[in-house]
Amino acid sequence: MSHIRIVLTGAAGFIGSNLAGRLLQEGHAVIGVDNFMTGNPANLDSLQAWPSFTFIEHDVIQPIGVDGPVDWVMHFASPASPPKYLNYPIETMRVNGEGTRHLLELCQHKNAGFLLASTSEIYGDPSVHPQPESYYGNVNAIGPRSCYNEAKRYAEALTYWMSRTYGIPVRVIRIFNTFGPKMDLNDGRVITNFINQILADKNLTIYGDGSQTRSFQYIDDLVDGILRLLDTPYDQPVNLGNPVEHTILEIAEIVKELMNSTASIEFLPLPEDDPRRRKPDITVSKSILGWEPKISLHEALLRTIRYYQSQFIH
Ligand code: NAD
Ligand code: UDP
Repeated sequence: MSHIRIVLTGAAGFIGSNLAGRLLQEGHAVIGVDNFMTGNPANLDSLQAWPSFTFIEHDVIQPIGVDGPVDWVMHFASPASPPKYLNYPIETMRVNGEGTRHLLELCQHKNAGFLLASTSEIYGDPSVHPQPESYYGNVNAIGPRSCYNEAKRYAEALTYWMSRTYGIPVRVIRIFNTFGPKMDLNDGRVITNFINQILADKNLTIYGDGSQTRSFQYIDDLVDGILRLLDTPYDQPVNLGNPVEHTILEIAEIVKELMNSTASIEFLPLPEDDPRRRKPDITVSKSILGWEPKISLHEALLRTIRYYQSQFIH
């Protein structure tokens, strides 16, 4: 891919900062945008060393102006962890609603393409397993998770209608549970919670009986898939996730083993509408992108644990 200029929202967050780092390494110019609502300014430190990186502190619920040409706008700004989006329900709906609209308008103005970070949450508590892109989902429109999953569904609808109406080139990725370095240790998602609890000598918290499943992907595999998608003309939604499925109880045991921990497990109530099972069908990404995850859960956890140990234990 020739070198391009990208506006990347959510650049101070977990995925945004990792993606920005890789885009800069590949020779692209990145204009990062973030309001630090759930992101961390320290995630920008290694990016600021690149002359091809600039940063705009801005809330993308408001329209944004950017100087100079733009080839792609990539919209990753949004709280992503259940406790965070439940803390900011209206902001979450607005960043995916009005935020998505303003960024699509920026694309119209700049003749740029638009990449939307969507989510496996749009499949809700799925009645089809594993989930292919053609599955319409099983979502409670007014439940506790609706401020996030319905907002992302609206963001997808808006993306495709703005594309059909104004000819904006679009890419939509449906990201399945992803973790790795630079995720906020207090983010509230399950892998960071378990590592954080072991580092703090606390019990591991399992919601429900731990029999619900998720399929966890390492951040580098996700970033690899995103770069491949930019290199293809494919404009339909693409699942990016690791199809290896585990129960949450298994995840707790694996994290304990890798950290040599004897922590106890504390069972807490399962939140309402928590999906029972989740696993991506990656037939499309395999055939369109020639992509599949390469990093095993063990390796991904080891790298992530080492990262947090280097950050917090001196
Ligand atoms: P994150 O919370 O680490 O990053 C989100 C970033 O967006 C933060 O830096 C936050 O400050 C910023 N932000 C939020 N609202 C904003 C606003 N109004 N204006 C400007 N910046 C704003 O979360 P993440 O895990 O990096 O998720 C990034 C994107 O990927 C989100 O859109 C999320 O829905 C999507 N996603 C993530 C996962 C995952 O497993 N990590 C799974 C599916 C989808
Ligand atoms: N979970 C858990 N303990 C925790 C945090 C989460 O058992 O400390 C469960 C949660 O109920 C869900 C799964 O782990 O079933 C994944 O939760 P996470 O918030 O990481 O992602 P999501 O629910 O959005 O897939």
